Amino acid sequence: MIVHLKTTIGHDEAKRLAQTHQAILTHNTQWHTGFILTLSSKVKELPADLTQYAEDYVVLDTDIQFASRSYQDQKAEVRIAEDLVIGGEDNSTWLMTGPCSVESKAQIETIAALCKTHDVRIIRGGCYKPRTSPYSFQGLGLEGLQILREVADANDLKVITEVRDASHVQDVIEHADIIQIGAKAMYDHGILRACGNQSKPVLLKRGFNSTLQEFVQAAEFILSLGNPNVILCERGIRTFEKATRFTLDLCGVSWLKEHCNLPIVVDPSHAIGYRFGVADLSRASFAMGIDGLLIECHPNPSEAKSDAAQQINQEMFSELAASLRKMAPGIGRRLK
Ligand code: PEP
Ligand code: MN
Repeated sequence: MIVHLKTTIGHDEAKRLAQTHQAILTHNTQWHTGFILTLSSKVKELPADLTQYAEDYVVLDTDIQFASRSYQDQKAEVRIAEDLVIGGEDNSTWLMTGPCSVESKAQIETIAALCKTHDVRIIRGGCYKPRTSPYSFQGLGLEGLQILREVADANDLKVITEVRDASHVQDVIEHADIIQIGAKAMYDHGILRACGNQSKPVLLKRGFNSTLQEFVQAAEFILSLGNPNVILCERGIRTFEKATRFTLDLCGVSWLKEHCNLPIVVDPSHAIGYRFGVADLSRASFAMGIDGLLIECHPNPSEAKSDAAQQINQEMFSELAASLRKMAPGIGRRLK
């Protein structure tokens, strides 16, 4: 249950009520300017002692609460810059591209130039890589963050980059415009809490073994701590199929659109794991009316230090962007 307290209620009183009801206390979100109490979804009736403090309240079926369309039916807006809002109801889909890993300044400058050519506003690149083997390239760390920031600022781009564990979350928060929580980190509560206790936008990837319910509940940790700027990202789940790296769950995307009010981004690159399918999956996802596409692109994919098989080159990206632009009017979307 979500209870909007009357805006006249101060912090001390709100805190006392939260303690009495074992509720989470949040302040000032997109949907309410006063204090908000979130009780377990098992609570189905407004507790009698809260009636005098409550402006209104919503009973919810599950612990998907802030993110639920039953709480707010409008899609949330996540503002990255004055003129860059992901989500909302204006039918925009934002392209985000860049390499799997930041490898050098020259590499990021090449991709920044590609972004400028195609009016792409958001560049990606990982600096702390959650690799499956300890012997693989682990990322450039802080040096990578500095490269991304410097090149992005010189080209008026925004940065999305991932956090692997809670040890460097503050560095990522400081350098990124959008903090990416990777699939393997979806359950890292140190990261979820650090991201919830600040206000920069967060793109939360679905763990590849997580149900949709578990995925959105992870987002609830961030939302309930008071950061409303959460974007969900479907990036493929593990199934019995081995021919592709993962299986892109487009049914899941439909479910999220129907039940959740958060913006939705699809990452086709990690889902299929091979560059041959990235363009088709991007177009299929775009046709579903998603809010963004996160695509891995590298100047020389076969030499990439991570995810070499799935990254596309500039030429493939250019063809893909052109085909998406052609599709946009037919599906009532704006590609940005
Ligand atoms: C990535 O974006 O490079 C990445 C590691 O993604 P995921 O967390 O989805 O595997
Ligand atoms: Mn990758």
